[in-house]
Amino acid sequence: MDYKNTLDFAKQQDAADPLKGFREKFYFPQLGGKDVVYFTGNSLGLQPKATQDYILNELEDWASFGVEGHFHARNPWMPYHEQFAVPVSKIVGALPEEVVVMNQLTVNLHLLMVSFYRPTKQRYKILCEAKAFPSDQYALESQAKFHGFNPNTAVVEVFPREGEHAIRQEDILSAIDKHKKELALVMFGGVNYYSGQVFDMKAITEAGHKAGAIVGFDLAHAAGNVLLNLHDWNVDFACWCSYKYLNSGPGSVAGAFVHQRHLNKDIQRFAGWWGHDKETRFKMEKGFIPMPTAEAWQLSNAPVFSMAAHKASLDIFDAASMPALVAKSKKLTGYLEFIVAEINVKRETSNVRLEIITPKERGCQLSIVAHGMGRSLHEKLTEAGVISDWREPNVIRCAPVPLYNSFEDVYRFGEILMANMK
Ligand SMILES: *Cc1c(COP(=O)(O)O)cnc(C)c1O
Repeated sequence: MDYKNTLDFAKQQDAADPLKGFREKFYFPQLGGKDVVYFTGNSLGLQPKATQDYILNELEDWASFGVEGHFHARNPWMPYHEQFAVPVSKIVGALPEEVVVMNQLTVNLHLLMVSFYRPTKQRYKILCEAKAFPSDQYALESQAKFHGFNPNTAVVEVFPREGEHAIRQEDILSAIDKHKKELALVMFGGVNYYSGQVFDMKAITEAGHKAGAIVGFDLAHAAGNVLLNLHDWNVDFACWCSYKYLNSGPGSVAGAFVHQRHLNKDIQRFAGWWGHDKETRFKMEKGFIPMPTAEAWQLSNAPVFSMAAHKASLDIFDAASMPALVAKSKKLTGYLEFIVAEINVKRETSNVRLEIITPKERGCQLSIVAHGMGRSLHEKLTEAGVISDWREPNVIRCAPVPLYNSFEDVYRFGEILMANMK
């Protein structure tokens, strides 16, 4: 695409954007009466304007019906989660029966590892990316310990090479091969939260399976950001949160995927009543009979208020559709990449240089290192109306989200960045 670093160009792109109407559906934080440049949808997605009504409906129905709301609410609470199977399956590329919305992300990761990390003396290792999100590191470590293994030997990390930021695909594959006799589980992020690198989930799954391991993904930064095909890729299990790209509110309810071939099997799991066969659930009898779907992993009845927020957002996703979002995302993030390169050219004589450490395999996020500048840059950006995310020592994570960010946002970001690089 032929980009230009002008306001006119940005405005033309916005005018021609088939998704331009979606920005209106979100609240933007304000600074001086203006929308901020919000580039942190990778951390907490913005609030859809409809969310309040979705939650209010449930509060009203609770007031009107009390316990009867389980059956008589406008969206009855008893089967509330069932509404998510189809829209969520489209976002992660699954069959409806393979997905369930429940709990929170780290909880789901643990529950799925109870089923899918079944180490033996011979096969006990977990392979993951270096610099995985800390919660995942703690989850893997504690699972290894729980099974009596030393996490220092059981958890194997694949690192970027010296002087590089992304992990090479060939290094992931050779690590799988190297540990293949001891490998129980390959557990990667779909998109690394720090570098923004998208991993080749299909190839990693194939290689993991060839080595005799189970393969799972944490899709916190992938769900709603990149195209996923969990079913066709044969991924064994996956989990994600809903408050980043999926805009469902702080700490909102999370998702889980279990491949069809693991459903309806006698499989080790921690069980609760909401995972029990729904036809006989209310007989309240002994003897767990699992649901024939991913719902078998549910423990508790649905947290309806968070789920109402999730529903508000998924209705928007359904209207926008992932393929259209990803098509815009490529252009929008490409524009940000172009603007960063322009700033470097314009400031050729300065000591400060911007470096994008995100590889070409990416979603919407770019992680930008500001060489020669410290945290003060981030503070200045914030004062000037850019909400981005700073990671020590000098990385700014910027996620222009195709659902609500515009080309004008990217242009404004460039202007503000340029003005504050001193
Ligand atoms: C955001 C994120 C989390 C957060 O975990 P919660 O259980 O939702 O608090 C965990 N893992 C990854 C990879 C994340 O990006």
